[in-house]
Amino acid sequence: MTVLITGGAGYIGSHMVLALRDAGEPIVVLDDLSTGFREAVPADVPLVVGDVADRALVMKTVAAHNVEAVVHFAARISAPESVRDPFGYYAANTAKTSALLEALTAAGVRRVIFSSTAAVYGLAPPTPTSETAPTDPASPYGASKLMSERILRDGAAAHDLAYVVLRYFNVAGADHRLRAGQRSPGASNLITLATRAALGLNEGLSIFGTDLPTPDGTGVRDYIHVSDLAEAHVAALRHLRAGGDSQTLNCGYGWGYSVREVVEAVRRVSERNFPVAEKPRRAGDPYVSVADASLIRETLGWRPKRADLDLIVGDALRWEEFWWTNEARRPRLARGRA
Ligand code: UDP
Repeated sequence: MTVLITGGAGYIGSHMVLALRDAGEPIVVLDDLSTGFREAVPADVPLVVGDVADRALVMKTVAAHNVEAVVHFAARISAPESVRDPFGYYAANTAKTSALLEALTAAGVRRVIFSSTAAVYGLAPPTPTSETAPTDPASPYGASKLMSERILRDGAAAHDLAYVVLRYFNVAGADHRLRAGQRSPGASNLITLATRAALGLNEGLSIFGTDLPTPDGTGVRDYIHVSDLAEAHVAALRHLRAGGDSQTLNCGYGWGYSVREVVEAVRRVSERNFPVAEKPRRAGDPYVSVADASLIRETLGWRPKRADLDLIVGDALRWEEFWWTNEARRPRLARGRA
């Protein structure tokens, strides 16, 4: 029995491929390579290049590989971009997820794990934020994911389908053995940009907002190592296989770091300094986003192994250095910054 990983050529998906492959599980990846990378999928893992909303392709893939469970990562992931392109986000994330779920239930797949986001909670949730906090997404991205959660819930009520929704907080780092990492030149998340600044790949870093109502005035986030996140999906799969019920769970560590603390960690771990420019806050950025992460531990028995900011930053640094040292890739990074 095989696990289908949509978006397995992307950043988080490629770490999930490694987690399941390391566990000896048969897997197949479905990715349209619009933002993913063919080389992110190990050569011995079958890759189907195509659209998650292509019903015939999904049904054929499920039958050909005897797919038992699906982990659905494929999505567009930028909140600011979604504000500029809401229809594109609802099409790519919500409509395609609905089409995928319809095809999967028609094909007899009974287990789905879905990538959701802390962005479903909106700008000022109670913190730490539990799964029962009100949902009030501030961007079409967050709304597109929340709608997908609802579609999944409705699908599970109508069909023989169980699911785990995982709401990710801030994902960072890379595979410790450097088999996978952030390959996207346009990645805009803080730890990636700060490590690129430390390596001289970017000219310094901007801090967006230094007058927020937080201890040092900068935004606070719950950063989770991407490999711990992948293992949360493995635990979710185990839960569903054991007959566990459908769940919606936060994925974070339960504590946060400010932007300044991240900058200090990157300087400390890299032993390099880099310029920081203080800029106005970004519209639509929550001040604090920290998970109440107790439910996932109770429900899935998930125990993160890399819950240490310096370790996350160290893996991100080593990956960025390894990946962009290749001269052939440098022009792509320059383009991504433009
Ligand atoms: N941030 C920053 N400079 C950057 C990128 C991000 O100061 O170049 C801040 C951002 O305002 C937020 C935190 O870092 O407080 C995490 O931002 P990121 O974009 O990584 O994730 P988000 O939580 O916004 O999804």
